[in-house]
Amino acid sequence: MSTSTETPEEIAENAAGDGTIKAEFTMELTQDQLDLQEWAHGFAENVLRPNAHEWDEKEEFPWPIVQEAAEIGLYGFEGIAQFFSDPSGLTLPIINEEIFWGDAGLGMSIFGTTLAAVAILGQGTPEQIGEWIPQCFGTPDDVKIAAFCSSEPDAGSDVSAVRTTAKYDEATDEWILNGQKAWATNGGIANVHVIVASVDRELGSRGHAAFVIPPGTKGCEQGAKVKKHGIRASHTADVHLDDCRIPGNCLLGGKEKLDERLARVKEGKKAKSQAAMATFEASRPTVGAQAIGIARAAYEYSLDYAKERVQFGRPIIENQAIAFTLARMKTEIDAARLLVWRASWMGRNQVPFENAEGSMSKLKAGETATWVTERAIQILGGNGYTREYPVERMHRDAKIYDIFEGTSEIQQLVIARAISGMKIQ
Ligand SMILES: Cc1cc2nc3c(=O)[nH]c(=O)nc-3n(C[C@H](O)[C@H](O)[C@H](O)COP(=O)(O)OP(=O)(O)OC[C@H]3O[C@@H](n4cnc5c(N)ncnc54)[C@H](O)[C@@H]3O)c2cc1C
Repeated sequence: MSTSTETPEEIAENAAGDGTIKAEFTMELTQDQLDLQEWAHGFAENVLRPNAHEWDEKEEFPWPIVQEAAEIGLYGFEGIAQFFSDPSGLTLPIINEEIFWGDAGLGMSIFGTTLAAVAILGQGTPEQIGEWIPQCFGTPDDVKIAAFCSSEPDAGSDVSAVRTTAKYDEATDEWILNGQKAWATNGGIANVHVIVASVDRELGSRGHAAFVIPPGTKGCEQGAKVKKHGIRASHTADVHLDDCRIPGNCLLGGKEKLDERLARVKEGKKAKSQAAMATFEASRPTVGAQAIGIARAAYEYSLDYAKERVQFGRPIIENQAIAFTLARMKTEIDAARLLVWRASWMGRNQVPFENAEGSMSKLKAGETATWVTERAIQILGGNGYTREYPVERMHRDAKIYDIFEGTSEIQQLVIARAISGMKIQ
């Protein structure tokens, strides 16, 4: 992998773009993209696959694996800079697909930090980006991770119900956060936590802001760790905020910008960006690419199996029931990838998502992964249902893609509203 010399501030500038289309949409990958794809595939094949079962069983955060990813530049802000700054927008989904083809639990442990980094890149000032992005990743010798915490026990799909509060103390120029975050990937073991909190409950999600909690801040503690169905190597936990005091400059975007936004909203004007939603919009196609990686892995495994497994004197693939299923699996995966690539290109080139193309890509990719992995179990028969074969793990891993970063129902709600212009409930 070539190393980027960009600073975090330059990453933000490159990622944000200037509103002009930088690359025409094409499905023909450049040599650079093909090289990166091969490089990520090699790591997935040689490091992630052989370790996947062990870490799934352990249900612990795989620090040595993340460190290995950091040593080769796959994990770290230089790597992210390079993936983000590609003008076509395709490098990020290509890398994610390969890594999650390797293993989703380990992949999420490597890419979970990105959600917090995207929030900081998207909403932070250049100074905040320069200060906090490196601290999200640490260095290959001292790897760190970050968490993005929006969800709460009573605020999942309904982000506007966030109850965590942030109150400004003028005397000390500090924010004081109180509340409980739920389901936070890397929550409690992260160096940097990005917290979505309400500064004005009456304004719902328009009164939200995002805050960085610096490492070791008193009053920010891990709560219960969640025991999960899939992506079990990835750490998921509650985060408690108990009179958690942070410096005034930890409000992403700064107080002046927040005050202006709140004033605009109170005058009945539109808020330009809402803290959690802005992060999710930018990350949905990439999350879709992760789901495609899992689906492709299960498809490839079941295709090989179907050619080998003999029943009634012939390989089971010679039965149309099996062969047609595999044909459908491949078609669905390719269709989902096209939607992901389109949305990734649109997002990077600032083409408005007029029909919620980001949500479409995540909806299709998530449902494809769940369906394909379930079919893969069926093709393997009894073996597919055991932990001796990887497709049952892939199926467990795939299911989360119908749930996090907006459930399938919520994606449909977003698409339905976008195409109709109506207030669909
Ligand atoms: C493994 C894992 C990791 C996660 N990581 C993070 C993270 O890092 N940061 C973070 O902030 N959050 C994270 N989450 C939280 C995740 O985003 C939420 O679980 C998700 O948004 C759904 O919220 P909920 O679980 O409260 O479900 P609910 O909102 O309670 O939904 C339950 C069901 O009702 C449906 N539903 C709800 N409202 C409607 C509606 N209006 N119309 C139709 N159907 C509806 C939903 O689609 C779903 O099927 C994670 C979750 C998991 C499981």
